[in-house]
Amino acid sequence: DASDLLLRLRGIRAGYAGVEVLHGVDLEVRSGSILALLGANGAGKSTTCAVAAGLLAPTSGIVELAGERGEFRDITRLSAVRRSRDGVLLAPEGRGIFPSLTIDENLSMWLRSAAERDRVYERFPNLAARRKVVAGSLSGGEQQQLTVAPLLVRPPRVLVADEPSLGLAPLVVEEIFRFVVELRELGVALLLVEEKASEILTVADTVAFMSVGRVSWCGPRSEVDEDRLTAAYLGIA
Ligand code: ATP
Repeated sequence: DASDLLLRLRGIRAGYAGVEVLHGVDLEVRSGSILALLGANGAGKSTTCAVAAGLLAPTSGIVELAGERGEFRDITRLSAVRRSRDGVLLAPEGRGIFPSLTIDENLSMWLRSAAERDRVYERFPNLAARRKVVAGSLSGGEQQQLTVAPLLVRPPRVLVADEPSLGLAPLVVEEIFRFVVELRELGVALLLVEEKASEILTVADTVAFMSVGRVSWCGPRSEVDEDRLTAAYLGIA
């Protein structure tokens, strides 16, 4: 459905110091949908995220964001900060936590009203129980919760997450994937990069494989089988 389309990358070429690493990437991210970007190391997944979120300007191609009435606006030249105001957010860098402030104070940075904070506490009772504790003393998993909690109350339109599970304990990873599904239910358009295909394939709606700076295959998750995965990682999909 064209009305779901929120963020569109068209013919993106980008690179570093004059070396092109994306050779014409096309992608569409839809509201209430998870697009998983998979592929071998160095395929260009992180670079694609950086272009989508506004951290890296492409040398050619355009990034477009749908407005309220579905009209597309060229945001290629908008910075990451400007994009975040328009609802395109990069996670988790978009919202760091302040270790010397309490949980309550941290949440107040993003959520002005007590009602909004209470919604976070309902969802994360363990944060509620420790609301006067400084964030620096929380466990890694709790810090992760504190980082993402405001997203549930004030969901972005588009969330770009580059390996959100990297280096995290399995239980925390599970929680991240549950959270991602919650955001999808709120209508967020998610662009997710993961090195480990097995986890992401359980939640993704659409899968795009990248190989040497190009999208080699893109389609519904239901069409991704063992053969397609193998082919994609070998760069022959
Ligand atoms: P990985 O899964 O290893 O993170 P990736 O698919 O995310 O890989 P990118 O990180 O986008 O791939 O990297 C694509 C290419 O661009 C690689 O050859 C990489 O070495 C290069 N590259 C990435 N970041 C930079 C940078 N900041 N400066 C120079 N080259 C870079």
